[in-house]
Amino acid sequence: MTEIKRVALMGFLLESNSFAPVSDEQAFRSLCYMAGDEILEDIAKPNASLPVEIPSFAEAMNRSGIAWEPAPIVVTAAEPGGPVDQVFFERTKDEMEQRLRAAMPLDGVYIAEHGAMTGTGSYDPDGDLFEMVRAVVGPDVPILATLDLHANISEKMVDSTDILISYLTNPHVDQKERAEEACDLMVEMWSGMRPEVAFIRLPLVAPSVTLLTAEGPYADMINYGQAHKTNAIANVSAVAGFVFGDTPMNGIAVIVTGRNELGAAQELCGKIAEQGWNDRDRFRTNLTSLEGAVAMMVANGKDASRPAQIFADVADNPGGGGRGNTTWVLKALVDAGAEGICFSNFIDPALAAKAHAAGVGASFDAVFNEQSESLYSNRFEAPVKVLALADGKCVGRRGIWAGRALNLGPSALLQVGEIKVVVGSLRKQGADPVWLEMFGLDVADARSVVVKSRGHFRAGYDEYFTPERIFEIDVPGLTSPVLSNFDFKHLPRPVYALDKDTTWDGPGW
Ligand SMILES: [Zn+2]
Repeated sequence: MTEIKRVALMGFLLESNSFAPVSDEQAFRSLCYMAGDEILEDIAKPNASLPVEIPSFAEAMNRSGIAWEPAPIVVTAAEPGGPVDQVFFERTKDEMEQRLRAAMPLDGVYIAEHGAMTGTGSYDPDGDLFEMVRAVVGPDVPILATLDLHANISEKMVDSTDILISYLTNPHVDQKERAEEACDLMVEMWSGMRPEVAFIRLPLVAPSVTLLTAEGPYADMINYGQAHKTNAIANVSAVAGFVFGDTPMNGIAVIVTGRNELGAAQELCGKIAEQGWNDRDRFRTNLTSLEGAVAMMVANGKDASRPAQIFADVADNPGGGGRGNTTWVLKALVDAGAEGICFSNFIDPALAAKAHAAGVGASFDAVFNEQSESLYSNRFEAPVKVLALADGKCVGRRGIWAGRALNLGPSALLQVGEIKVVVGSLRKQGADPVWLEMFGLDVADARSVVVKSRGHFRAGYDEYFTPERIFEIDVPGLTSPVLSNFDFKHLPRPVYALDKDTTWDGPGW
């Protein structure tokens, strides 16, 4: 009789910006909360809503030729936001634990995690979750987790799992490949491979905009690691971290997993870490002032011979916990009379509802942030015209969400001055041109595009804008790359580049 391998599928994905409002149960329910068979039903859909890793892992297992059956536990995810509400976290962890116990005996656990979650009562919910899983399944059942490359890695996360696999791309377009890698390595472990893990965390935090993988110091770390993988090495993960998590385990980290032996893993881990540390001065931003960006956009609107350009409000990125509703850029463009601009996206549920009530073609005096004014999210009044309405549901076309079911909530395309602004209800960064196309707009017709996104828009808009036509605007916000703007309380100190005299003594083994 063939033995059937039983693999638990689960995930609790959140990137926590400690300066953003708490991520409550609703934040998860409105994006993804599936338990038991709901997970299998979603996997079977052509455009799943689940994080891509889950269906990708299942497909890879199906293709492996191994007789297996999934044990669906719970998969939940929220848009990046503040720390998870601890009560919701504990309740969900308990549900996961009960379902895991009911699913025993298990031959493996696959966890799709972001890895930069904090809670209102814990710095390290990811570690707490992994620890629970280990306690349930015992020491001999493989536990493999994939992580976003913006994960903050704790010792507990490393110690409670067998293999941690982080993305290699930023913008993130390799979730599928990393899930397949998790499947392959789990199968290898069933054949007797014993992972040995080397882990180093550097006293180095960097703004997210400096952590791209096309080029730059972080790309060099990743490429060095991949180029030096040998048969003795099962996985190399150079994890960028998420500085706004503001935790004691922040810092660029390197995790190298060896096959049956630690020596080679430690050696490579040390070399990658050394390279990152020696390059620490290169993790620098190159921002454009608001005045400079507005001047370029005004010129683009007046002079059709200028190439179109894209401008990112990197400081208000919903993909990093931003609210998607700061008004500095929009107001400056309206005041300057800039033309030919598409703006994606401004998040304001009350304004979207008002536009729906007014109807297509209606004009009214809009108040942006009338009901959501806060620290960075100022009130802004302007006459608008409703150009189009949508329910906000679509399928991602290009980049990080290609093929995935998406939802911006009730949405409207408003004309504000000479600017076409997508106003949505659910926080989503402007990473995919689909948000404009949903309203019949063609990006190729725009003279300038403004996105609230840190970097993932680069993969969505790459067919329109080459890197030299991309600009990152320096304005205030919850995800500003200017780290000196923030009152960090829990980072390990000293930490480079906030503390210039920081030293690192090497791997210590
Ligand atoms: Zn990320």
